[in-house]
Amino acid sequence: MHFVAGNWKMNLDRKSALALVSALRERAGQRTDLDIAVFPPFVYLDEVARSLAGSRIQVGGQNCCDEEKGAFTGEVSATMLRDVGAGWVLLGHSERRHLYGESDALIQAKVQRALSSGLRVMLCVGETLGEREAKRTEAVIGAQLKAGLQGVKPADLDRMAVAYEPVWAIGTGVNASTAQASEAHAYLRGVLSGLYTPAQARSMRILYGGSVKATNAAELMRAPDVDGCLVGGASLEASSFLGIIDGAPRL
Ligand code: PEP
Repeated sequence: MHFVAGNWKMNLDRKSALALVSALRERAGQRTDLDIAVFPPFVYLDEVARSLAGSRIQVGGQNCCDEEKGAFTGEVSATMLRDVGAGWVLLGHSERRHLYGESDALIQAKVQRALSSGLRVMLCVGETLGEREAKRTEAVIGAQLKAGLQGVKPADLDRMAVAYEPVWAIGTGVNASTAQASEAHAYLRGVLSGLYTPAQARSMRILYGGSVKATNAAELMRAPDVDGCLVGGASLEASSFLGIIDGAPRL
């Protein structure tokens, strides 16, 4: 089943967040042929999760701490996310890696903490423009994927999804072509196949993210090995996010 997820980042306010989820719930809340999730800022998670309760739209946090609890001012634990109704957490987003200096080792620790707390994890990987131009895309995304999955047991794989998000495509209006996305996704699936089994690699959802809009989503999501999309800017308005949802291949 394809998966469409919206990463709101540090956008919206309480009123607009609730209006958005109410529209999503009404138009797409009972879709059984597609997985849908939203990733609101922490402070709105509780209310967003309540307002989506009973629908099929899932909710996730945009980050979590690698520690369980304690003196970590400003951090939010995986258990707290679960406590307010989040089922998912995004980890390794390029803004966390590049703006906040999160290392592969930290992301790996967060993945472990999130899984052991019962969350599902969407692990993001992606190369910068310089890395792509230096023909290092596969080396970079392969290393990020392997590091993030280090210690993840085969039995936990069904609680994970991967998002391929080339850094040069995030928020720039320049999306990867379907060929570029498919090529990277096929490579990542090959890495998964080596780490686990070919069947497990096939069943892992690999979403594409980076300037997805209603006008390019359908084509991207029909590309080989693309199992959905992670959407930033275009997930902030019901009409554009629903346009993307409507473009997803049905079961
Ligand atoms: C993202 O941040 O995950 C993202 C893909 O952003 P945008 O869709 O705005 O490029």
